[in-house]
Amino acid sequence: MPRLTRRRFVGVCSAHVAALGLYPGWVRAAVQPDAGGVTFLMPSDGAYPGYATPFNMRIKTRPAVIAVCRDEQGVASAVRYAVDHGLRIAVKSGGHSFEGFSLNDDGLVVDVSLMDRQRLEGEAYSAGAGVRLAQAYDFLLPRGRLLPMGSCGSVGLSGLTLGGGYGLFARRWGLTCDHLTGVRMVDGRGAVRDSCDDGALLWACRGGGNGNFGIVTEMRFETRPAPERLPRQRMRFRSLTAGRAAQLCERWFTQTARLPDDAFSAFVLNGSTLTVLITWFDPGSAAQVQRITEAMAHGADSVADPANEPLARAVLRYYGADGPLHFKNASAGYYRGFDDLRGGIEGVFRSVIDGRGMVFQINTLGGAIDDPAKAASAAYVHRGQPYLGELQCYWERDSQTEDRVAQVAAVQRQLRDIGIDRHYRNYPSLFFEDWANAYYGDDTYRGLQWCKNAYDPDDRIGHAQSVRA
Ligand SMILES: Cc1cc2nc3c(=O)[nH]c(=O)nc-3n(C[C@H](O)[C@H](O)[C@H](O)COP(=O)(O)OP(=O)(O)OC[C@H]3O[C@@H](n4cnc5c(N)ncnc54)[C@H](O)[C@@H]3O)c2cc1C
Repeated sequence: MPRLTRRRFVGVCSAHVAALGLYPGWVRAAVQPDAGGVTFLMPSDGAYPGYATPFNMRIKTRPAVIAVCRDEQGVASAVRYAVDHGLRIAVKSGGHSFEGFSLNDDGLVVDVSLMDRQRLEGEAYSAGAGVRLAQAYDFLLPRGRLLPMGSCGSVGLSGLTLGGGYGLFARRWGLTCDHLTGVRMVDGRGAVRDSCDDGALLWACRGGGNGNFGIVTEMRFETRPAPERLPRQRMRFRSLTAGRAAQLCERWFTQTARLPDDAFSAFVLNGSTLTVLITWFDPGSAAQVQRITEAMAHGADSVADPANEPLARAVLRYYGADGPLHFKNASAGYYRGFDDLRGGIEGVFRSVIDGRGMVFQINTLGGAIDDPAKAASAAYVHRGQPYLGELQCYWERDSQTEDRVAQVAAVQRQLRDIGIDRHYRNYPSLFFEDWANAYYGDDTYRGLQWCKNAYDPDDRIGHAQSVRA
């Protein structure tokens, strides 16, 4: 989601680089494809470090082999190689997993980042598994189409979609995974499957497909007409105490309950500074957003002049940092409203304000996400929860890691103590003990186990929180 504070924290913004499609070296080192659509990189190969480095520098892993794939046959060959050599497989696209689930130690990594072909036929969009969000925006917006998705330009579209995918447009149209109409996937034994012949596969990939039982090679989506402009309002409150931040948080929940569905809002507490952002895109919503802004801004230290940029320029603002960065981020839970937090939010905010590099962000969901028809056809389960929290912590050196991870763990305990136990699969944390229930709920998890047995009975593909057979 919009990383306003993150950009300030790291002091860099890759918007222009990403807009030109010039990704930094850590994302794509040059590699010559072998015959068969795959290049196997060993730790001694010069290109290996570029593919072994995730977005999160806290993650230290050393795969035995990285299979850099160019096409579906290359992916199938990589799976057969892993079977022949008895290696476990992790799947990597954009490399942004908070816990490094797309890499492993001593196993094989199937890297799909070069599989970035995009096509638009009418309103139907298809994307290779390596497409990043900036590439999708760059491709679709000039053609007048939009796929509702997240904001950060270097996040992988497949990692985002397979766990849900929310952003500035989800309240009007639904999650990215709700727009998924088909997938192709190489399963744990190297066989190619297409959801045209398998409804369960499409259901699972709408929110339950990240690294669990196959390597998605291509995704097909329905798209929406791209709005012309994305206006925004932004305000800041500085030098907050925990009590004052909690009061403002309650006010934010009250006001955002009145947001029109084309609008989105983020509450971002970065240390003792609170930023509130509101975006919208339907011109008819301007008056209502103005009323909400005025009610929210009472007592603010600054209220930025409202901006009203063309969509293609506005999305660049939220592309975020190049990375890689040292960080520990995690879901801070789903909420129905402020009452879910009331019992402990002041203590949580005290930890954020007194801690180092800490950010607590809450984003609006709800609207079209909460649609029973979508619920029946997708593994994403948290539709009735109109807010999502994210705990973030950033630092600069390896020597700071232990201390900062302990800070995050302490806040996670505070949240658990007030009963926050449902979490977003795309914001994972190894500290979630009952992770299967937190991400999926019992019924959906059982459905995903059925898929695991059907697509990957040997448990070849997986990570620390992948679905167990
Ligand atoms: C800076 C930042 C900004 C973010 N912004 C948003 C946002 O706005 N909205 C939002 O919803 N989320 C957001 N996220 C969370 C993001 O959706 C997840 O981190 C997502 O899983 C990243 O996907 P990836 O392909 O970049 O990462 P990877 O690390 O490559 O993959 C993530 C997971 O998906 C699996 N996976 C990836 N590709 C495939 C594939 N082709 N087949 C099967 N499994 C696959 C991996 O095995 C891994 O388990 C953000 C994360 C970061 C770090």
